[in-house]
Amino acid sequence: MSFAATILTLYPEMFPGPLGISLAGKALERGDWTCETVQIRDFATDKHRTVDDTPAGGGAGMVLKADILGAAVDHVVNAQSAGGTASIPILAMTPRGKPITQERIRELAAGPGVTILCGRFEGFDERLFEARPQIEQVSLGDVVLSGGETAAIAILDACIRLLPGVMGAASSGTEESFEEGLLEYPQYTRPFEWEGRTIPEVLRSGDHAKIAAWRKARSEDDTRLRRPDLWERYSDARDQSASGARRKKKDMDQ
Ligand code: SAH
Repeated sequence: MSFAATILTLYPEMFPGPLGISLAGKALERGDWTCETVQIRDFATDKHRTVDDTPAGGGAGMVLKADILGAAVDHVVNAQSAGGTASIPILAMTPRGKPITQERIRELAAGPGVTILCGRFEGFDERLFEARPQIEQVSLGDVVLSGGETAAIAILDACIRLLPGVMGAASSGTEESFEEGLLEYPQYTRPFEWEGRTIPEVLRSGDHAKIAAWRKARSEDDTRLRRPDLWERYSDARDQSASGARRKKKDMDQ
């Protein structure tokens, strides 16, 4: 069963875009995933095919209309359920959403596919989310893009590389950044010496236990320094499981 990506956008020509090359492109050719776009403008009802209007309360820019977006989303959901597909998560791209995580990407990649709604201009009429609470509002991070399409491409890329067979041996990805709540350790490759800098000696020792310990220590140090937010969560979880283990041992000793 291939992973079904459906993108609702005003710019369908942006897809598959960069996902048509390299790993994702080959996976698309093989049918590991499918890429369907839906033109939001096709759901406009007036002769000018209007999809946006001025913001209530004033201010710059234009807002995507709830009635048009609702019709577009309903169309996709109905087509999917008529096709007998298991319910596919619907993500709307917005800086107001929950930041995407590798954990959520793993869940999505393990499912039947994902439907992504891409905003433009000032974004969506909020009532869309009230009336269609199944839509998950997702952000790529604390930046403002000009449209949801590049965020959708990033999210799809992250999902596709996890699909079975797409990355071959590397695909388990268990040592990658975020998989254990830590950043990955730094990587090196030949030449051994470059501009007077050498590769850490331990990595040439062939001692796998020592290498693993060094990598773990660097992962922890770098996460603590670079991502205090991740570090706090990781060290809390670690302390909790350590005290859990101590409690268990005490119970057993008694
Ligand atoms: N006025 C909005 C930004 C609109 S940017 C605000 O300040 O919240 C236009 C569109 O780009 C958005 O509707 C959204 O689909 C997309 N976009 C911008 N930044 C994004 C981000 N960090 N994550 C996901 N989508 C984003």
